[in-house]
Amino acid sequence: MAKVLLVNPPFYRLLNSHYNANSLGIAYVASYLNLQGHNAWLYNADFLNSKTFLRQKNIFEGFDSYKKFFQNEEHGLWEEVVERIIDFEPDWVGYTSYTANITAIDIISKKLKRKRPAVKQVIGGVHATLDHEILNKLQSIDYSIQREGEHAMYELVDGKEPKNITGVVSRGQNGLIYNFDADVIKNIDNLPLPEREKFWGLSDDEKLMVDVSYICSIRGCPYRCNYCASPAHWKRNKTQYRSPKSIIDEMKYVKKHYWDAKKEYDFSASSNVKAKNELIIEDNSTIYFVDDIFTVHKERIKEILRMMIDEDLGMAWKCEARTDHLDEEICQLMKKAGCIRVKLGFESGSDRILKMIEKDETTDDMRRGAKLLRDAQVPYTGYFMAGFPGETDDDLKQTIEFAKEIKADYYSLSILAPYYGTKMYYDMIEVGFELDKKPWEYFFHQTGDLMVNHQISPEVLKEYLSLSDLNNIRKGYV
Ligand code: SF4
Repeated sequence: MAKVLLVNPPFYRLLNSHYNANSLGIAYVASYLNLQGHNAWLYNADFLNSKTFLRQKNIFEGFDSYKKFFQNEEHGLWEEVVERIIDFEPDWVGYTSYTANITAIDIISKKLKRKRPAVKQVIGGVHATLDHEILNKLQSIDYSIQREGEHAMYELVDGKEPKNITGVVSRGQNGLIYNFDADVIKNIDNLPLPEREKFWGLSDDEKLMVDVSYICSIRGCPYRCNYCASPAHWKRNKTQYRSPKSIIDEMKYVKKHYWDAKKEYDFSASSNVKAKNELIIEDNSTIYFVDDIFTVHKERIKEILRMMIDEDLGMAWKCEARTDHLDEEICQLMKKAGCIRVKLGFESGSDRILKMIEKDETTDDMRRGAKLLRDAQVPYTGYFMAGFPGETDDDLKQTIEFAKEIKADYYSLSILAPYYGTKMYYDMIEVGFELDKKPWEYFFHQTGDLMVNHQISPEVLKEYLSLSDLNNIRKGYV
């Protein structure tokens, strides 16, 4: 039996906030390993014993603080994280990665390697999947896993030769040894439910502060939006769906074991509901379907919603959706089934831009979908972006008017960031655009600075960003 610690490195703490929700990717790996007889725990290095979170806007104003942590590798935070890992006495450590936390993983893994050279270190998650060269950049990491981590990590921990494990990248005498992406897990209903108990370093009271109400019902997304990392990460044609019954069973499980616990708050960093700079989150527990798009396949979603109603679960929930999936029946069922928020990526009010970013939705689709939700009294958040390559003042003015027209309950306003590994990222390099910053620096798209578009005028950009004033008169962020 191996001792395995699966780590969510600090990210929100570097921005003067924190994140107390369960990280589902590593939670699935942990439960899979535990089912096979290993001893796997989760360590959320972003957790703080605090009920006060920063507002989303203020979080993203912390970019300078974030950079300073990386300039000082002797900062006490890094020592704290490494000591907490060492206390566990692991045989294996696995890190979940996304572009913005790669530098944190680099610092932590170097320190751990110096203090405990025998511990094997593995990186998985989105960035490790997209960056095939990641082991050349993170010298203290022994292996990386591409795509699903459950089985590949199990085989590593179980002692199988790494170069023979599908999905594992290792080092050889002549450079990196690749062995394709990990096999797609054919029926994700068969996976054990994600780990919700083994939280390393937390007291019993603190464990009650972990939001374990996140549920994943789909792995991947069948769409092709060129600014989004999902198609490159999961591969569109390999999208995996859980059955409605399996999803309802997990909701019942959460309700039975955690819903009525002494939890008065929804502790997720994404559940800010009040327009204050710092706030204590006073929301009841809410199931969050973390799927890229919860509403893929109309008949499937209707079946899930009807089952929620028939089972009389009485659980509030929120999800991401596309407007072109919505019809009157779905919206009415959503309302009845307890949906308190739908998150919609409108992105632009210009059909020219929507076509360019391969959104495969039109402004008419979006108008229609938003109206259906409004009519059914289901609140929705509208996500918008400005600064696409080639976007003009006229395009952005159309976005501003469109955003006002669709009357969202909350507006999330971003500047386009060319995410590492997306089609847009590579398209821009191909046409000679110099993406000369480090990939993680392109992660911050709420700073208000245009990154790749230099033709939008400051006046129009300012008008776009001032759409956030609308958030003061509506329901706010959920
Ligand atoms: S629909 Fe959403 S998750 Fe899917 S590719 Fe487009 S932006 Fe990404």
